[in-house]
Amino acid sequence: LVDASYTRIGQVEDQVKAFLTLNEEEARKQAKVLDEAGVFNQTLAGLPIGLKDNISTKGLRTTSGSKLLANFDPIYDATVVQSLQNEGTITIGKLNMDEFAMGSSNENSGFYGARNPWNLQHVPGGSSGGSAASVAAGEVLFSLGSDTGGSIRQPASYCGVVGLKPTYGLVSRYGLIAFASSLDQIGPITRTVEDNAFLLQAIAGHDAMDSTSANVDVPDYRSALTGDIKGLRIAVPKEYVAEGVDPEVKQKVLDALKVLEAEGAVWEEVSLPHSKYALATYYLLSSSEASANLSRFDGVRYGVRSAESENLLELYKNTRSEGFGDEVKRRIMLGTFALSSGYYDAYYKKAQKVRTLIKQDFDNVFANYDVIVGPTAPTTAFKVGEKTNDPLTMYANDILTIPVNLAGVPAISIPCGLSNGLPVGLQIIGKHFDERTIYRVASAFE
Ligand code: GLN
Repeated sequence: LVDASYTRIGQVEDQVKAFLTLNEEEARKQAKVLDEAGVFNQTLAGLPIGLKDNISTKGLRTTSGSKLLANFDPIYDATVVQSLQNEGTITIGKLNMDEFAMGSSNENSGFYGARNPWNLQHVPGGSSGGSAASVAAGEVLFSLGSDTGGSIRQPASYCGVVGLKPTYGLVSRYGLIAFASSLDQIGPITRTVEDNAFLLQAIAGHDAMDSTSANVDVPDYRSALTGDIKGLRIAVPKEYVAEGVDPEVKQKVLDALKVLEAEGAVWEEVSLPHSKYALATYYLLSSSEASANLSRFDGVRYGVRSAESENLLELYKNTRSEGFGDEVKRRIMLGTFALSSGYYDAYYKKAQKVRTLIKQDFDNVFANYDVIVGPTAPTTAFKVGEKTNDPLTMYANDILTIPVNLAGVPAISIPCGLSNGLPVGLQIIGKHFDERTIYRVASAFE
């Protein structure tokens, strides 16, 4: 399998550009040890996996898509990496991403943009673009991504694969290079819903190294894949099928709802009235958290240091000016402004209050329904270069995924057809820690 993975990478990688680093020597060594032992008693023994490049891997280059970390080799493994090792997966390489996970198209990668395997003129989505593209192109069996505002679900949708953002706190963030800590979650990207459940099973669970890790019992996800949805109550937010959503995308989602109806589920239109504030809320809060989290990249402790500086302040300035890309700088400036005294109450504090209202919208709907269903993104994958000059249209692409992160609930994107030869994603949103119901609904399509 590891051999097949590298063979496929050899065939397509110069076009897909999903990887930033390959781990070939070490991966082959591990595969050989397994083969020679001939014992495959771990659940995922020998299966080739790719990891988003913001997940720390001991001794293996981890750049978070940034030139500033171009030479960074972590001294420890993220908890999810340890969990995967316990299950026997083999790390094929580290996957391309928008710098520090800021972006929706992979075009903000500090190195080169990954492409959509369905049509190389189109973006794979972002920020976990490499994670989705590598799975769609058959370079790895599955991968891990991270999702702060949609970065697992949107690229999964664009590349026609299955991507889950778990409930906030279900999967340890220890060793994930932080973007916005109150929103970030690591999750699985796979070809099938069943594989997705396998991978979540391997990485979910409490971790004392992450203070926001939830101390909950991890249920069995595979046994939820019954496809039995008789009597299931589905809510479809009218804001999720409103104008701005491409008519063909909307049609595919309505077709999917018909399938669910035929299986015995019922659906009704509901409202998430504060969704219209989600984008503004998200960009204030995530940029504020990012400005604090990224202050650690000062040229002293990690990564690349600017070559010539007269004093410490200049060292900071030069390192950060040279190392960070434009989008990262834009967010640091926005976040620093929003957190500064005199503006804090008007922006950051206000945004926190609106976040609570958005979460309450979800609580209200979930009082009467089992899941919320809608599109993952308003359109299919757009063309490379189409949105690079206008950050606001790029941000607007996340309108359907962001409320989920603000509320902390779990959501999956599964493929539900093609529009002009490009995949459409169906988003299924569940209650806190109810990934089982999400998988049950998703498995009704397999
Ligand atoms: N596209 C969104 C952003 O740029 C979401 C990114 C993410 O989920 N990491 O912030």
